[in-house]
Amino acid sequence: MESKQFANLFSPITIRGLTIKNRIVSTGHETAMAGEGGISEPMVAYHRARAAGGAGLIIIEVALVHESGVFVRHPIPAYSDDCIPGYRRLAEAVHAEGAAIFGQLFHPGREIIDSLDGSAPVSYAPSPVANERFHVMPAAMSRELIAEVIAGFGDGARRMQRAGLDGVEIVASHGYLPAQFLNPRVNQRDDEYGGDLPGRLRFIREAAADIRARVGDAMVLGLRISADDLSHQGLGDDEVTDALAALDGDGVIDYFSIVTGSSATIAGSLHIVPPMLYEIGYTAPYAAALKARISRPLICTGRINDPRIAEKIVAGGEADLCGMTRAMICDPEMANKAAAGRLDDIRACIGCNQACIGHFLTGYPISCIQHPETGRELTYASRKPAARRRKVLVAGGGPAGMKAAAVAAERGHDVTLFEASGRLGGQVKLAQLLPDRAEFGGLIPNLEREMELAGVTVVRNTRVDAALIASQAPEAVIVATGARPFRSPLEGAEEAHVVDAWQVLENQANVGAAVVIADWRCDWIGLGLAEKLTLEGSSVRLCANGYMPGWTIPQYVRDSWLGKLHKLGVEIIPLVRLAGADAESVYFQHTASGEAVICENADTLVLSLGHQSLRELDAALADFPGPVHHIGDCAAPRTVEEAVLEGLKAGVAV
Ligand code: SF4
Repeated sequence: MESKQFANLFSPITIRGLTIKNRIVSTGHETAMAGEGGISEPMVAYHRARAAGGAGLIIIEVALVHESGVFVRHPIPAYSDDCIPGYRRLAEAVHAEGAAIFGQLFHPGREIIDSLDGSAPVSYAPSPVANERFHVMPAAMSRELIAEVIAGFGDGARRMQRAGLDGVEIVASHGYLPAQFLNPRVNQRDDEYGGDLPGRLRFIREAAADIRARVGDAMVLGLRISADDLSHQGLGDDEVTDALAALDGDGVIDYFSIVTGSSATIAGSLHIVPPMLYEIGYTAPYAAALKARISRPLICTGRINDPRIAEKIVAGGEADLCGMTRAMICDPEMANKAAAGRLDDIRACIGCNQACIGHFLTGYPISCIQHPETGRELTYASRKPAARRRKVLVAGGGPAGMKAAAVAAERGHDVTLFEASGRLGGQVKLAQLLPDRAEFGGLIPNLEREMELAGVTVVRNTRVDAALIASQAPEAVIVATGARPFRSPLEGAEEAHVVDAWQVLENQANVGAAVVIADWRCDWIGLGLAEKLTLEGSSVRLCANGYMPGWTIPQYVRDSWLGKLHKLGVEIIPLVRLAGADAESVYFQHTASGEAVICENADTLVLSLGHQSLRELDAALADFPGPVHHIGDCAAPRTVEEAVLEGLKAGVAV
């Protein structure tokens, strides 16, 4: 039975005769799961899981309408009949679970991030205006090429229709080709595709008309667009509103879907998948403003991670449907849980970006740090019950131990988790103390709830040792004892004031006015410490043993942090290796030249040098007769993503 709390969110909506059962949309997003020919079986399983979890509408990621726009190594080729069998399997799977399915028709224009063979392709745009972020200077499109690409939209839509999809969407968001035509700073043509608004809208109008001509009246047609590019030389909200009002009046496009941001610049790209820095539901005011000018249904997307927020947006008339994409990457069953009123069971997305868009940007299939089953549905989505109920002891209540305990107990084992401190969460307890990282702490209650539902016994303030193992007599042990800050001998350290990152976060360091941070790991810790200490009044030099601080973390998180640190006046020194310190200076060596780099007038050195595994149970378990699994940082210090994934694997294996 559906919760009355979500009367609007779970009401159906009809668009061009297609009834969608609720207002929850998995919007088009890159999964990096496409193979040769497009749709792969892991991709089908991925989307089927979201449809089965209660989403009303699944929109499949971008498919290329023309070969002049190859922007990733394995694009879905809407320009070829090869895509049809895969789309058909996808449509059948999603329909079988009761959801509608649309496809996205796409041409990146000058937004080219990759190539098929390592050589840079010729990229095309309305005019030869350079892309700042990818350093691409495109060639101006000829009229013949424009005509081919427009025909590609219609042909692609027809292929998707033949495959059984319910609708298609023109991707005019984030500064891609249709937006490049619309943008007078990018479109400098003096023919009929440039100039005033009707000229700059001509490309979108002709693409929409071609699609309609090819698919007839039965198929839904939408347009996705950034309500504001929030970007240097990007489209502004007034320009977008005027364009959508004109398209709304045409009556060819059936719905609009808004996001913010642009691929063309660093600042614009931060909004493509906005990290936790941005407020939950921060794009809703853009949707509300647009609703005043358009009559067609509107989808709003942008950090809507909670059904209560989505209900408020729909009930308040700000939008008709809500894109809750990461909410369902993180918890595929989010919609069904909301409908049943099981809000405490929803694993809320925390906007970390690490394994969803972070994986895409590094070329790997989509996943989620909190739910590593995502993207691995064919292997892990359904749990195989344990052949025999065993007594399992888990040592350590960080993310790795918690996930392992939850999965093992869910499979039927008798699981007890021992945590040495009074609180679960491991290093997440510290990470959430960094500025703008409080939401990261949401990972702890999410995993606690998974353990509670699975029936794990949790014992706090109890360190596992040989005696405890003997008294508990488990049949299997999962060791997840974590790590501690790494410190190596440092020349001159006895004269200097040296503290580590954990001491700073726990407010156990008497940090001075002039701080140098030695950031070996180049992750969020160095960035976060620099922000925290600057906000607390210190002058900070952030010295990274890499190309830049944050080099190892997802691009949008790093870049938003680099922007903040720039505003705060933090001095950044890249490519330096810590060599020594004394009472007044910190000494580095440039990692490329080998020359000395000296930070004078420093009164505190903060070490962010990564971690060292805690292997305190090795001796106690040396002769243990059953299986022993070492997972997470106690296996080797890495991130929470690996910790939770290894927890899943151990919970399945035990
Ligand atoms: Fe959300 Fe992080 Fe999971 Fe991505 S990896 S879906 S941002 S919790």
